[in-house]
Amino acid sequence: MSGTFESLPPFSVWLALALVLNMLSVKANSKIRDKAMLRARRKLKFQSNAGAPCENVPAASFLDLPELVIDNILSKLSPQALSNAASVCKELRERCASDHVWLPHVLAKWGGVAGDLAFEEWMNYCISLYAHNPYKLDDSSFHYKTRKAWPLSCIWTPREIPPAPQNNDECNQNAYMKWYIALETGNYCFPGQVYNREHGHVGFLMSCYDAELCYDRKSDTFKARYPPHGTCSPVLEEDVSWERLRKPPVSTTAHELYVSPSLRSLRPGDHVEVQWRRDRRYPYGWWYGVVGHLEACSKDMRRCVCHLDDTVWLEFNQYAPGSRWRRTGVNRDNHTEKGDDTEGYYAGVRKLSKDEVSAWTRLWPKELLE
Ligand SMILES: [Zn+2]
Repeated sequence: MSGTFESLPPFSVWLALALVLNMLSVKANSKIRDKAMLRARRKLKFQSNAGAPCENVPAASFLDLPELVIDNILSKLSPQALSNAASVCKELRERCASDHVWLPHVLAKWGGVAGDLAFEEWMNYCISLYAHNPYKLDDSSFHYKTRKAWPLSCIWTPREIPPAPQNNDECNQNAYMKWYIALETGNYCFPGQVYNREHGHVGFLMSCYDAELCYDRKSDTFKARYPPHGTCSPVLEEDVSWERLRKPPVSTTAHELYVSPSLRSLRPGDHVEVQWRRDRRYPYGWWYGVVGHLEACSKDMRRCVCHLDDTVWLEFNQYAPGSRWRRTGVNRDNHTEKGDDTEGYYAGVRKLSKDEVSAWTRLWPKELLE
């Protein structure tokens, strides 16, 4: 028996355990009281609202949500849903028109075909319109009176009295939404480039030419208007698909010579685009090619020293062997434009990225060209 009492904990241990149990009990009771009070408050609020007229009952509003939550929800909306939401109230319209909401939509739909240059041109156009034209880029057109038909009705609304140009803020405000609408409606034609122009005319296969592009929402295709060749009229092409378009990779226009980076870095096997035009009065197009070897080279890369030669050979292997368009050489150090009225004029050369090469590879003709 004495052995049993000796195994019990001392009095101090019992005291500590009792204190801990007491503290836990107080905390639990406190939580229960808090929950009861919360329920009572909810009930009181419910009873208070229930007794009030409907119009006086404060309703939960989407705009009462935290800013980050609202922005997150708006970022998930499509352009069509944004336009619908914008018609609800003024505050929501301002939020739905903001640049950070529209920029992802601009990039997702138009980023591959309408670049920074096109955006800058449109901005200048917008500013000049404010300054000189009795038409105004009116945000109110973003308010769609009917929801049956999106879209995006014409935003150039005539006014009886031309507004005096205030400043560029008119165009800068909600610029991405306006830019998106201008493109989507086809109201603004923008500069872009078209692969294999004129429906893949054999004379233009594996080339890419500047054009003015207008989107046709009904057919989801574009109209392309090419710069005139000399005194010829501009060529128009319809039903140009998205796959045949790209935004201009450089800011050089169709009649400007592209200043090539050093051609010393080009090695056999590199993929390039070369500016070429048939006649000095014509616009340049970009033509796909690869860097070739010297005639005397064995093409064994372990022994190849072609990159040390002063001439870089550009090959256009889409043309059959023997074709006068298949190969040309240009000086690595002094190249600007070379050629004549027989072979045409070769100008700027730019090395391609992997993505650009992939785009060209998709267009490779089924048969070699003559
Ligand atoms: Zn070689």
